[in-house]
Amino acid sequence: MLIDIDKITRGGLKISRDFDFQSLELVEENAVFLKPVHSDLTMTRMGEEIWIKGRVTTLFSFVCSRCLIPYECSIDSQFDLVYLPEAFHELKDELDNEDIDQLFYQNRQIDVREVILEQLNLTFPVKPLCAEDCEGICAVCGKIRQDGNCGCQVKETDERLDKLKIFVKDKR
Ligand SMILES: [Zn+2]
Ligand SMILES: [Zn+2]
Repeated sequence: MLIDIDKITRGGLKISRDFDFQSLELVEENAVFLKPVHSDLTMTRMGEEIWIKGRVTTLFSFVCSRCLIPYECSIDSQFDLVYLPEAFHELKDELDNEDIDQLFYQNRQIDVREVILEQLNLTFPVKPLCAEDCEGICAVCGKIRQDGNCGCQVKETDERLDKLKIFVKDKR
């Protein structure tokens, strides 16, 4: 979806629509879309600068990196971006504006689909977890720990013993 920047008026251009992406386009290839990606954007223009304020929401299924079970994860992310003409790219070092993450548009057009895809990829967890305290899979029997205790004797360190060890060490 290409937006001609000359069509963006002072009052701003509002875009509200759903996008379909393929899992292959995502950084997390195991992610499965459970809903279309909905986005609301407002594009405003100040001279040659294009400001994009937006929100993207969707529902995914990720595979937990500990227990390997798929779980649902809803995404609701807001962003503010500034796009400059490609010609400014060469001046980037001279612009000396390291705080702002500058983006560039080419041929006086911005591909909104690409903008959304990039934002979506940025929201993904590095290590997807079904729950913060997911205990993963038992190293002995391979069962999922959350489904109750499998009864395996996993060598667990006893905190009290650890303290005792330190105590003994200190005494030496
Ligand atoms: Zn898990
Ligand atoms: Zn077990």
